[in-house]
Amino acid sequence: MLLLKEVEDVIQFIEKQKQTNKSIGFVPTMGALHKGHFSLLSQSKKENELTVCSIFVNPTQFNNQEDLNKYPKPLKEDLQCLAQSESCDLVFIPSIEEIYPDGTTLKKPFPLGNLENIFEGEHRPGHFQGVVQIVHKLLNIITPDNLYMGQKDYQQCLIIKRLIEIEKLHIRLVTCPIHREEDGLAFSSRNRRLTPSQRILAGLIYQCLVSIQAQKEQKDFSTVKKECLDLLQKKGFQPDYVALADAKNLSPMDNYEANHETIALIAASLGNIRLIDNLIL
Ligand code: AMP
Repeated sequence: MLLLKEVEDVIQFIEKQKQTNKSIGFVPTMGALHKGHFSLLSQSKKENELTVCSIFVNPTQFNNQEDLNKYPKPLKEDLQCLAQSESCDLVFIPSIEEIYPDGTTLKKPFPLGNLENIFEGEHRPGHFQGVVQIVHKLLNIITPDNLYMGQKDYQQCLIIKRLIEIEKLHIRLVTCPIHREEDGLAFSSRNRRLTPSQRILAGLIYQCLVSIQAQKEQKDFSTVKKECLDLLQKKGFQPDYVALADAKNLSPMDNYEANHETIALIAASLGNIRLIDNLIL
């Protein structure tokens, strides 16, 4: 596994690989790697001759300074796991200065439409502009054929799909399934920050998603939503939303609709740790 820190070195390496027509798969991450990340890498390995992983905790997508400061950054451990598992051919770990030599201010916002103002966008103002800013930069450096992202961040996948359309990039976006712990909690780098008692409670988010799915033919969504909100609050969560949306464009839906591809979404904090999850019904 090759490890590079500088943009120029990556560009040169990729150029060389492209001379032999190697297909390139790319998995952008913020590190604190877990099984979810490794599932993306393994899919890329299966489908490409070269797999690139980046680890970069992008400051511009954090709307909360404390969340950024406390974001886990076990770089040494991550690099060891990547090397031992032979999950990628190149790992790119740039510094902030390397990625943002002219500062982190976004010169011109990307036209993302209403998708950036709902759900995660509403609760994390500016988050998706930051995501698009970093992913756009990384895509220009790595120029992959295939980009692997997780359904766990469903709205992010739709936002990146939009970026690919806006910039007319020749990149295939592959949305990979959510990997979960035994109790259903979606793997997340933020899970490391949960205390043992919070960790036990955290599986409740997935249980709520499952109950939203199980009750779709029996009750109105407003009733199920209230049950979920009450239960989450009773157990000490601060829910931001429990919602249904059109899986194609995330337009919010008031109720279940038969024959309509629907996604259930939940965001809730335990203490100051914010967790998100979703389930396609
Ligand atoms: P992050 O490091 O949190 O920015 O995540 C990097 C990529 O891994 C994103 O595309 C995430 O959607 C994806 N990812 C995060 N958690 C999971 C999971 N539990 N299962 C599958 N993919 C995931």
